[in-house]
Amino acid sequence: MEVVRITPRGYCHGVVEAIRIAKRVGAERSTQEPVTMLGYLVHNEHVTRELQEAGVELVEESDRMKGLDQVREGTVIFTAHGISPAVVEAARTRGLNVVDATCSDVTRTHDLVRRLVDDGFHVVYIGKRGHPEPAGVLGISPEHTTLIESIEEADRLQLDGKAKLAVTCQTTLSVWDTNAIIERLVHRFPHIEVHNEICLATQERQEAAVLAADHVDCVVVVGSRRSSNSLRLAQVVQEKAHKPAHLVDNATELDPAWFAGMNRIGVTAGASTPTHITREVIAAIEAISA
Ligand code: SF4
Repeated sequence: MEVVRITPRGYCHGVVEAIRIAKRVGAERSTQEPVTMLGYLVHNEHVTRELQEAGVELVEESDRMKGLDQVREGTVIFTAHGISPAVVEAARTRGLNVVDATCSDVTRTHDLVRRLVDDGFHVVYIGKRGHPEPAGVLGISPEHTTLIESIEEADRLQLDGKAKLAVTCQTTLSVWDTNAIIERLVHRFPHIEVHNEICLATQERQEAAVLAADHVDCVVVVGSRRSSNSLRLAQVVQEKAHKPAHLVDNATELDPAWFAGMNRIGVTAGASTPTHITREVIAAIEAISA
């Protein structure tokens, strides 16, 4: 059995930078002053553990404003997914030292939405409810943004057809699903301004996985179930390449039965998956085939 290493895979620039910032702040903390990440800095358990070992505490509450109530003092780190301006303001008002690890690609979407709203647009935002990235973007101007998740919701949207409309999206969605939703919106509202904000790292990993899937029997995606881009990698392999895809957090989750009768296994990894975890998974698959 041959393991095909799909490239690009694993860490993106936003994750590398967020981890660098959090580790630096953790290392610089004074003993009295805690350093707390408000939610998972990036959606990966291994990274979270590593940061906790480096002295960064975790508030697990998914509602950032509620989570902030648990941060009494010291430094609060906002995660790579971005943060609502109201939470930033509340943290400053409470006298916390604020460190922002938002990915520059997410910041670009925030800037875009701010500009569109200033220019009088109503913004349709395609994203996943409950994920921190949409919560941060919608917090910019809740009354001028509407979150939708699907084509069905695009069909049900009640918007003033004469108003200035724009559509944008979460950075880590499926390229194909998002294009289909955008197409439906353009069909319903031909004048809608389109700003597809799926980040390059997400696009490249999905396109490489779908392309490689044509030449393998199945694909293993290394990543956390919390990680939107890891989940989407498995999804696009199944839906676009029609090949089995298995999402595993680490090598212990591999099931040898998945590979029975197979010759070539593709391996990719979400943008928040540490390289050494992917390497262990590859070694474990090779050991199964030996
Ligand atoms: S997946 Fe994209 S948006 Fe998310 S941290 Fe990486 S580069 Fe930034």
